[in-house]
Amino acid sequence: MTDIKLYNTKTRTKEDFVPIDSANVRMYVCGPTVYDRAHIGNARPVVVFDTLFRLLRHVYGEDHVTYVRNFTDVDDKINARAAEMKANGDARDLKAIIRGLTDQTIDWYHEDMEALGTLRPTHEPRATEYIGQMVAMIEVLIEKGHAYASEGHVLFDVNSYDAYGALSGRKLEDMRAGERVEVADYKRDPMDFVLWKPSSDDLPGWDSPWGRGRPGWHIECSAMSLDLLGATFDIHGGGLDLQFPHHENEIAQSCCANPDGGFANVWMHNEMIQVEGKKMSKSLGNFFTVKDLLDKGIPGEVIRFVIFSTHYRSPMDFTEKKMKEAEKSLLGWKKSIDNFRDEVSNRFVGSNPPTEFINVLASDLNTSQGITELHKLGKQAKNGDVDAAVKLAEALNFLGFDYTHIWDVSFGYSLNKILLPNDNEQASELIDKILQARVLARKVNDFLRADALRDGLAAAGVVVKDTAHGAEWELDTDFDVAKLEGLL
Ligand SMILES: [Zn+2]
Repeated sequence: MTDIKLYNTKTRTKEDFVPIDSANVRMYVCGPTVYDRAHIGNARPVVVFDTLFRLLRHVYGEDHVTYVRNFTDVDDKINARAAEMKANGDARDLKAIIRGLTDQTIDWYHEDMEALGTLRPTHEPRATEYIGQMVAMIEVLIEKGHAYASEGHVLFDVNSYDAYGALSGRKLEDMRAGERVEVADYKRDPMDFVLWKPSSDDLPGWDSPWGRGRPGWHIECSAMSLDLLGATFDIHGGGLDLQFPHHENEIAQSCCANPDGGFANVWMHNEMIQVEGKKMSKSLGNFFTVKDLLDKGIPGEVIRFVIFSTHYRSPMDFTEKKMKEAEKSLLGWKKSIDNFRDEVSNRFVGSNPPTEFINVLASDLNTSQGITELHKLGKQAKNGDVDAAVKLAEALNFLGFDYTHIWDVSFGYSLNKILLPNDNEQASELIDKILQARVLARKVNDFLRADALRDGLAAAGVVVKDTAHGAEWELDTDFDVAKLEGLL
């Protein structure tokens, strides 16, 4: 059997993965709060834990892995977005808008994540369907002295749990000093967090022993994982941004409500995504949803491949250069497999990925090394090795690239400038104009002028490549828009 090693945030070491019950390996991953399309940063944990799901299914058997990923469909951000929609003329009442918004966003999420080739988890619970379980857990926490009711709220008493902060390695003292925490009269300690809070009549709310209200975000995951996976399960995953406070709070709630259970044995966190070296932000104009990229004609396969190209524990830079490399690799492999189309079709079973490739993935999901293995196979296949072509198709299939579909993928889009921030839009127009001027200069044999324009672009940090479809360009890291001025 393949030995899986996973880096455990809890112990800060790479450990041998030993499931509690190999007949039912259990994994929980925090899912999205549903009020908007998923951006590419949201897509990373989906692709990462989908790969782990596939690996676990391969090693323990498809029917022996339970993967839960929730939908947070009750949240202040959802309420705020619905209020915005109402202010913009939506005639429905707030609750109907919220229901419509969350249903719609869940459909979008499924659509977009499917386009990335990820499998649906075994269970996708909606928080609003588990309110009873949350109320029950809160009651247990109060009973055991870990939570208290105050002015319609219920708060978790962080001082009642000694291990609070162990996952992220923080001390309560430092947290109070370093974090922006809400100080409120109803809290005993500013770090105490909300388990339940009052809800106004126009917003979603449920009756509870503490009055009509709604749950805090953290209690949702504790209640849903308990119900679907039990008090102890194997793996809990999510983005690094969730480690504190969300995961600390989940641990505090679950371990205090069920002191005999261990909650999750292994904690896994994926690092964050940047775009072209900058933090994704709407104001920078480099904020992209998965749908934005799909709409620009970029195949889900390319997005997925780019995510694979960086190990999940390293920060990743999502760049056009990487998308181009992804496209080139996939096209190359497609060609190599296509050369042996009939043989591959005959021998492909869809469940027989090469051992060396699986071993690389089993070493803490080393997808970037996995891609190196694919390149090796691709090279062998290109050199006429039919066995390598079959292995390549199997490995690609394992990662969620349907090798038959790869034959149909259209790579006819142009990657130019897709990820370029809006604040460079003017620069982008200017570069296009300069390139047009260069074409004109060449047409009239004014090569001096054409060369001067080319040199001017290069000096400003614009890398120009002449292709069969005309000139393509990208910005170097030292791009300086000021140097473009005066070129025309
Ligand atoms: Zn969670």
